[in-house]
Amino acid sequence: MSRSAHPAGPRHADVLPEGHYSAPATDLNELDPKVWSRTVTRDADGALTVGGIEVARLAQEFGTPAYFLDESDFRARCRAWADAFGTEADVFYAGKAFLSRAVVRWLKEEGLNLDVCSGGELATALDAGMPAERIAFHGNNKTVAEIERAVEAGVGRIVLDSFQEIARVSHIAQRLGIRQRVQIRVTVGVEAHTHEFIATAHEDQKFGIALADGQAAEAVRRALTLDGLELIGIHSHIGSQIFDMAGFEVSARRVVQLLAEIRDEHGVELPEIDLGGGLGIAYTSDDDPREPHEIAKALGDIVTRECESAGLRTPRISVEPGRAIVGPTAFTLYEVGTIKPLEGLRTYVSVDGGMSDNIRTALYDAEYSVALVSRSSEAAPMLVRVVGKHCESGDIVVKDAFLPADLAPGDLIAVPATGAYCRSMASNYNHALRPPVVAVRDGQARVIVRRETEEDLLRLDVG
Ligand SMILES: *Cc1c(COP(=O)(O)O)cnc(C)c1O
Repeated sequence: MSRSAHPAGPRHADVLPEGHYSAPATDLNELDPKVWSRTVTRDADGALTVGGIEVARLAQEFGTPAYFLDESDFRARCRAWADAFGTEADVFYAGKAFLSRAVVRWLKEEGLNLDVCSGGELATALDAGMPAERIAFHGNNKTVAEIERAVEAGVGRIVLDSFQEIARVSHIAQRLGIRQRVQIRVTVGVEAHTHEFIATAHEDQKFGIALADGQAAEAVRRALTLDGLELIGIHSHIGSQIFDMAGFEVSARRVVQLLAEIRDEHGVELPEIDLGGGLGIAYTSDDDPREPHEIAKALGDIVTRECESAGLRTPRISVEPGRAIVGPTAFTLYEVGTIKPLEGLRTYVSVDGGMSDNIRTALYDAEYSVALVSRSSEAAPMLVRVVGKHCESGDIVVKDAFLPADLAPGDLIAVPATGAYCRSMASNYNHALRPPVVAVRDGQARVIVRRETEEDLLRLDVG
């Protein structure tokens, strides 16, 4: 994984354990629009506002830590994806990034489809009124009960992940008198993360059926003979936080090759291919994500070209962005607590949340930005590590960043681009109360997922 490079700085160069850091060239008061949601600005007093509301007011009304989700930005991103892919392709929002009933309603209104990968996500989607035919059901170990629920509900597709599941889904569908539309998830031997992709040996994982040794062709053979299944296409998902389209190129080429083999062997041209999600977003100013229309064009061109050379009709393409839609639309607001300067090293800034509301830094060494948002400051930059309040030294929210040196307890700081995989992966570690998600739009803020209470915790603990 590429790390953002901080060029050598004279002040700390000989003492810093991990590379060299120098104060950023940009003004710390500036909010890079790449990493903040679209309606975020600083007002005349220097305080951050989102959807026209100042953070101090949000903190007062909803408390901290809390996630603030810019609803108009979320909707705009949905529309951008839907428009980019047009009527010839389908966009499925990957619900695991962040799902709530409000989000389901927005997706429905903006014309997107939805991926779910558990009974809980399916229940949320159905409860909020997402038409079942617009839902795709994923996962490497769907339970029988989950499959039954999905088939009964009439989900538009189930993505089959193993030989056992091919038999299981067909059996359940037949018993329910349904011919279930399915795709087969294949592993194409490509794994992509951020700026790199690796084109070998990534069949060594729990998901999908390998293309390389003829397993995928065998899976297709079986699926085509089973009465409970209508095989509509092939699915491939190659990684996460991807900027380089080369991995998709290899993946699309291999999937199209499989379609050609299927045509040659069975005389059928499968009508769809799904290229998965994983499109990257800007967590820091060093990241340069592509726009949905560029991604749509790149993927469309690759598939069209490969199909032309294989003499196939171009299948309908689907994609499954999760992070790329919701990630940039939210920030986490924290109140600064203990500040611990370590002379010549860095300053540890503790906040009132941590790994319970953002596990990504601890889990993946993810990078984030951070800004002082309750006021502006002309103080010099200081190198900080933003840490949580949990009993764990790996409880880091932002590993390396700069904040103004006059930072003080009680200041509000915000970490942008926390819309994806933060609330959805939040935990109750140390009996933390999971923060609320507050949707902000046009001067209005409303809770869409409320803050947990001690009562919630105690209710589960039945003694
Ligand atoms: C996780 C996942 C996605 C979404 O990934 P993002 O990085 O959020 O875009 C899409 N499809 C499948 C099958 C996934 O597992």
